[in-house]
Amino acid sequence: MLNLVLFGPPGAGKGTQSEKLIRKYNLVHLSTGDLLRSQIAAGTELGQRAKQLMDQGLLVPDEVVIGMIENKLQENQSAAGFIFDGFPRTVPQAEALDLLLNQHDTQITTMIALVVDDEELTRRLLLRGQTSGRPDDQNEELIRRRVKEYNDKTTPVADYYNQQGKFAAIDGIGDIETIFSLICSKIEQAVS
Ligand code: AMP
Repeated sequence: MLNLVLFGPPGAGKGTQSEKLIRKYNLVHLSTGDLLRSQIAAGTELGQRAKQLMDQGLLVPDEVVIGMIENKLQENQSAAGFIFDGFPRTVPQAEALDLLLNQHDTQITTMIALVVDDEELTRRLLLRGQTSGRPDDQNEELIRRRVKEYNDKTTPVADYYNQQGKFAAIDGIGDIETIFSLICSKIEQAVS
């Protein structure tokens, strides 16, 4: 199985690159942000509770996202692999993911980080907010809080995979195709 973690702050291009990767490698895309937004759209209690935190640019509790990922792994047992987008965002989430994959006799192949500076992220997210309809993309203060939450809580996840020898960083500024081929070469290196 090919199991990728696509890592990077909000606005780094994870969603765009995930779409291309799932087509090329036939992977199941698991984005916790998308899963939470569908809970909100469906009006579930989980969605309502998550929305209160998402609207403030804060992370939802680990057990909520871990539970959602657990269900998706169960539902997709015959998948060729997964791409994890926006997950894990904390070290306990990364530890839980290792355990879950272990139970399915598989593991993370590699984490690929897209590196983009804070100013460029803010610019991209405000631009995306004009069309995405996402409330958390439309307010500069909220965007900065999401980026801070990433810098405080999510950056340590890169060390977690680095210590396992499963980490590669890529410059996330540039054209989409160039970044995509850089990601693909990191994948080829990881599986060879
Ligand atoms: P995203 O679409 O990945 O930018 O996520 C949007 C929002 O959903 C984040 O700002 C968090 O509030 C929440 N969220 C998504 N994924 C996670 C996660 N793995 N852990 C905690 N909160 C998350």
